[in-house]
Amino acid sequence: MAEVFYDKDAELSVLNGLTVGILGYGNQGRAWALNMRDSGVKVLIGNIQDEYWFKAEEDGFKVLPLDQASANSDIICLLLPDELQSIVYGEYVEANLAEGKMLVFAHGFSIRYGLIKPPTSVDVALAAPRMIGSGVRRLYTLGSGAPALLAVGQDYSGMAWRKLLALAKALGFTRVGALKSSFKEETELDLFTEQAVMPIILSAFMKAYEILSEAGYSPEAIILELLASGELIEVFRQVCKLGLMGQLPLHSRTSQYGQLSRIQRFTGIVEKPMRLSLEEIKSGRFSTELILEQKSGYINFRKLMEEAINHPLCHAENAVKSKVKIPYEVL
Ligand code: NDP
Repeated sequence: MAEVFYDKDAELSVLNGLTVGILGYGNQGRAWALNMRDSGVKVLIGNIQDEYWFKAEEDGFKVLPLDQASANSDIICLLLPDELQSIVYGEYVEANLAEGKMLVFAHGFSIRYGLIKPPTSVDVALAAPRMIGSGVRRLYTLGSGAPALLAVGQDYSGMAWRKLLALAKALGFTRVGALKSSFKEETELDLFTEQAVMPIILSAFMKAYEILSEAGYSPEAIILELLASGELIEVFRQVCKLGLMGQLPLHSRTSQYGQLSRIQRFTGIVEKPMRLSLEEIKSGRFSTELILEQKSGYINFRKLMEEAINHPLCHAENAVKSKVKIPYEVL
């Protein structure tokens, strides 16, 4: 069983006198910076000079170019798109990694696949929230926090775990429980969810829309039934509280029987592609593919996105949004 850390296991005072540099003020970067500042940590931001730079300044942070931010920070958090991290690291961070500094990631990708190879004279750690950035911030402001996986890849100072736990506390992660993991485990699990679970969910909705509209159901009714009512938000809220099957009694018996009696029809079909995704993740084939995609200027990515947002389901969603008031905020 994984070890779990809570607030009581971490001391914020470990960070006294240290400056945390947040490189990248995007989804995670902004949430991390705001949470840490509210927890009393000294934070500065590193970014290229564009809209994120100005957003950070607007939020009251000191913002520096990436190399200066690295040079002026004791703890450097690399909160940039994974496929770009090694480029930014090589250009701006590496030369500024003085002995004893700490490099922190929100996802293990760059270390797991050897894209970044930090010198042995620094600490390397992972604080990977299981939550999108807006949620990391929102939960913190509500007095709660996002759950996270923690790992130390290199402990040069002998203080890496204490510093990491203090960061996790400042971010709100230890309020609910942060699990001890490894760069390998975190990376592979995260990629698996993205590449073997989410595609099944997305394709289920797309194919459902195609079949139902072909069968003559109205686009509005289909979209409301599948997605727009927000019912699934409530279901997944209950999944978190009661468990995947524990929440089933909240549905009608008709629904429970319908769900349970049809699971087997689908499990056989998804097993093979799921195992293929896992193999691509473990062998590094996916990471190579992603880096090549970045090098090619994201040609395939743009094509895939174009196709996805032009799926008939998306057009129907837009039409429904203009007609039906969606009660998301109530849920
Ligand atoms: P974002 O895509 O939101 O990062 C955007 C930031 O990266 C901006 O500050 C942007 O600056 C900067 N950036 C983009 N391109 C470059 C470049 N070429 N050179 C320098 N800076 C650049 O990233 P996320 O916050 O989504 O992800 C950050 C890390 O967090 C990743 O490791 C990710 O896996 C991890 N993570 C993300 C989660 C999420 O929900 N998004 C969840 C858990 C972990 P600008 O645009 O100004 O150039």
